[in-house]
Amino acid sequence: MIVSIASQKGGVGKTSTAISLAAGIARKGKKVLLIDMDSQANSSKVLVPDYSKLDKDQTVYRTIMDRKPLVILRTKIPNLDIVASHILISETDVTLTTALDHREARLKNELDKIKHNYDFIFLDNPPALGWLTINSFTASDSALIVVSPGYFELDSVVQISKTISNVQEFFNSNLKLLGLLFTMSDSTINTQTSLQVLRQTYTDKVLKTIIPKNVDLKDAHMQKQDIFAFNPNANAAKAYNTLIEEVFLPNA
Ligand code: ATP
Ligand code: MG
Repeated sequence: MIVSIASQKGGVGKTSTAISLAAGIARKGKKVLLIDMDSQANSSKVLVPDYSKLDKDQTVYRTIMDRKPLVILRTKIPNLDIVASHILISETDVTLTTALDHREARLKNELDKIKHNYDFIFLDNPPALGWLTINSFTASDSALIVVSPGYFELDSVVQISKTISNVQEFFNSNLKLLGLLFTMSDSTINTQTSLQVLRQTYTDKVLKTIIPKNVDLKDAHMQKQDIFAFNPNANAAKAYNTLIEEVFLPNA
């Protein structure tokens, strides 16, 4: 199962969700691969030991820019591998805009060769709907859209839904919307209103599990740990575990 975690809005919790789902499922004994498609490389910095020593040819850059096989790295977490990102993939949108090959499928072409080695593959995406996210959607079975409280986030769901429809129409008719995940939730009126509007608008597409606002996530990632290693009793750890059981491993 290949899942793109996406939203064109920045800072909504995509990377935290990608790391927590990948690490949480790997810790339950499944083989998991996380692919970092964001030039900020935030998941790579948390999960790749000695990330700063990586050359661009040891990252997804080489697959997207040079159409070479994916370079898979081990993480400290058992059963979890990663394809790291590189700051220079920020240039790819310009390159891909003028490319004449099937530019939407550069990731898919290589991922198809190795996907059988994994039970789950998660793709962490940049906060934009350019060619990198389109490569992710083209390579994926489904998309998990991350939404955090606030009017503009809700507005952005409309835009990303259009991108998903376009990808379905032109590049990957198998792509499904896995659901909308509400993150950084708290008990303020604004947050509860956002959640209510989201549920009224998208009804059954909004996942039951809500990820609470929890500073442990930031602290864990600052220490290059996933939330389950940092504090398995943190509210975010419990919520991501519930999400894993709701969506990915219902009988675990
Ligand atoms: P970007 O669009 O820049 O890639 P993102 O959508 O990947 O951002 P994250 O990096 O996961 O978002 O989160 C943004 C910031 O919010 C980070 O500092 C992270 O530690 C923090 N954060 C993420 N989820 C939560 C949460 N549930 N509670 C509190 N803080 C959170
Ligand atoms: Mg991110």
